[in-house]
Amino acid sequence: MEHDSRPQFRQQVRDFIATYGELAPPESDTALRTPERRRWQQLLLSHGYLGRTVPSRYGGYGAAPDLIEQIAIAEEFAAAGITDRMIVANRQGVSMLVPTLLAFGTEEQKQRWIPATLRGETIWCQGYSEPGAGSDLAALSTRGRIDADEIVITGQKIWTSEAHQADMMFCLVRTEPEASRHRGISFILVPMDAPGIEVRPLNTMTGRSSFNEVFLTDVRVPLDHLVGERGRGWEVANAALTHERGALGNPEVAQTRFQALVELMTRETVNGRRLIDDPVFADRLMKLQAWLLAMRLNNSRILTCRVKGESPGLCEMVVKLQGCELIHQVSALAIDVLEELGVLYDGSEFERAGGAWQKNYMFDLGLIIGGGTAQIQKNIIAERGLGMPRQARA
Ligand SMILES: Cc1cc2nc3c(=O)[nH]c(=O)nc-3n(C[C@H](O)[C@H](O)[C@H](O)COP(=O)(O)OP(=O)(O)OC[C@H]3O[C@@H](n4cnc5c(N)ncnc54)[C@H](O)[C@@H]3O)c2cc1C
Repeated sequence: MEHDSRPQFRQQVRDFIATYGELAPPESDTALRTPERRRWQQLLLSHGYLGRTVPSRYGGYGAAPDLIEQIAIAEEFAAAGITDRMIVANRQGVSMLVPTLLAFGTEEQKQRWIPATLRGETIWCQGYSEPGAGSDLAALSTRGRIDADEIVITGQKIWTSEAHQADMMFCLVRTEPEASRHRGISFILVPMDAPGIEVRPLNTMTGRSSFNEVFLTDVRVPLDHLVGERGRGWEVANAALTHERGALGNPEVAQTRFQALVELMTRETVNGRRLIDDPVFADRLMKLQAWLLAMRLNNSRILTCRVKGESPGLCEMVVKLQGCELIHQVSALAIDVLEELGVLYDGSEFERAGGAWQKNYMFDLGLIIGGGTAQIQKNIIAERGLGMPRQARA
């Protein structure tokens, strides 16, 4: 899907990738604080491939929104095998918090947190889910008691990705317990080194601990860390979630993976026949290709709406559900085509791509759940997108 209307710009992106692309940390590298990652992030920032439309007074590149440029950048990075996750590992900070602060933050909050986040100096985690509040997030019970010019937070968060590496957490707390469920919630920025915070890692089936339990006991945070009005954090939280869902379902990740799958199926043979020539596997591959193309066109539609200042509506609601299922299915096909080699994992001499297909298959299953499960996405599409009757509430 090449757009030739800006060949010079596209060439500029290719030149950047040719010069610096090898500095991109591998997708399997999960450490967020290394000097290499910071250097890479700052290179992207100074060349306008990160924080591109964030105003320069907040440390961004300050470019005007431009659909063609955005598509060219996404396509060229994907074609070079540099996925979204390699571009910016701290998704919670750059893709979720920065746009949320731009929309809801005070001038002081924007100045204080956006530049350091874009430079990779401040790492964020997202403290929404609790043991009793996941899909039904408004059931959250972590308390935020006002004490003079501070909020005193007590409660527990769970599944908090990267909390063990984060400097800050954007967190939902209940500040008005007497208000209706959605009204009494506030969105607050919590320093992770504040006294009273304990982070306990949770293991996943990938063998890694990427998320955590976070216990908060009388954690004191200044009131000026509240984003938006006190008790009106639900709106702020949902804006951040919309950005998360868009980032999680980004079709450029699927594009990079799909290319790698085509290469795998072209290279690998069974009984002298290339896997791509097997009619059953080729059929599955083509279905994924059609799905991918649909997602990429949908993405162009969303970008067009954004540039025009229109709401993308339903187009945006399908991204998380479809995009996350798609990347999972790409890995699933890779595992199937590899037959008995497909189950090898963790250092076997016969594993392919360093076991990345297996790791991605397991990790990406989590992405179908995180940021709102597939079932919840379907409810959103049905109720808000298609105007169908609301699900009966217990
Ligand atoms: C990899 C990963 C990373 C995550 N990172 C974070 C993070 O950084 N910060 C954070 O706050 N949270 C994070 N989460 C948590 C995530 O947001 C929740 O897991 C998710 O919202 C679901 O909540 P739950 O786990 O409590 O499941 P539940 O809400 O208990 O759901 C259990 C099952 O019931 C289904 N279900 C529930 N309600 C309905 C309904 N109304 N209609 C139909 N089906 C329904 C769900 O789809 C699911 O299948 C992460 C999760 C994962 C897997």
